[in-house]
Amino acid sequence: MMIIMKSNATPAQVENVIEHVKAAGLNVHLSQGVEATIIGAIGETHNIPLDRFDSLDGVELVQRITQPFKLASRQFHPENSVFPLDGFTVGGDEITIIAGPCSVESRSQIIETAQAVKEAGASALRGGVFKPRTSPYSFQGLGEEGLEYLADAREKTGLPIVSEIMSQTQLDAMIKYVDVFQIGARNMQNYNLLRSIGETQTPVLLKRGLSATIEELLMSAEYILAGGNKQVMLCERGIRTFETSTRNTTDINAIPVLKNLTHLPVILDPSHATGNADYVSSIARAAIAAGADGLMIEVHPDPANALSDGKQSLRPEKFAEMVKQVGQIAQVINRRLASSEVPSPVFGRG
Ligand code: PEP
Ligand code: MN
Repeated sequence: MMIIMKSNATPAQVENVIEHVKAAGLNVHLSQGVEATIIGAIGETHNIPLDRFDSLDGVELVQRITQPFKLASRQFHPENSVFPLDGFTVGGDEITIIAGPCSVESRSQIIETAQAVKEAGASALRGGVFKPRTSPYSFQGLGEEGLEYLADAREKTGLPIVSEIMSQTQLDAMIKYVDVFQIGARNMQNYNLLRSIGETQTPVLLKRGLSATIEELLMSAEYILAGGNKQVMLCERGIRTFETSTRNTTDINAIPVLKNLTHLPVILDPSHATGNADYVSSIARAAIAAGADGLMIEVHPDPANALSDGKQSLRPEKFAEMVKQVGQIAQVINRRLASSEVPSPVFGRG
């Protein structure tokens, strides 16, 4: 942490700040230039709030040099986090494609979709059984019955299951069934839920909140990591802006920014980011070109009759076409789809 003193700060004010830094258990590095005096506070500063020092007399500005999200930060973990998920890896050279319906609606719907997305090249199956709907009158999901159907779909296709947990009360029921806990945008700052998931060893897909900054997303990931669960994927799913022509606005910037700030894998969800099946493939291609480690795509065999998010769901044929395009883009940047058995002879890394 750097404490920059005002140009007219007195020696007594500088001394007072130094005493406060020491009292916080930190070491002092004093730099007295012609223009300004800078006090470096060195040590475990991530849990010390900036306002501890910036109200002291003579202080101009307090700045962190290290990130407040220590465990998620690349500064402390320069290598990408790569972890296994049922036969493939997330966060390495392979691109992960998670696909499936917004909601599990019936046994036949989820099995049919699972088989179609597997055939098209998906590496994991998504499907919500506890749905965070804006209206309490909308379909809320099948609950535990839906988990049984997901388990059936996994047995038939071998695809690992990604499903959203909305509350700690669902943890015992879900942990037996899911391979990845999804934490939805509306729960990104549900700190009790984040702590509970942090105590498990089940991989997590943490979605960015509708109005959350990148730093807030990383601080939420920090809760899970601090609990001991290191297998966290971050998911950009569009943010709220003034634009109304799409459901949300894809923050494509977030991909390189996150890749720079953190070692955790970054997934993009173009379905919720655009809210419109017509735009999903182009944003999916853009995400892979921008360096995302994977995609989460809503796919439904009959979008017009879907119980949730039909407008943004791809039909299986469209999804298959998208996977092919994404696979080609992956090759250009020396990556490949997790599902492709044989790496490209020209560009494949391994
Ligand atoms: C979903 O994935 O179906 C979902 C509800 O997403 P989000 O939390 O991003 O709105
Ligand atoms: Mn959805």
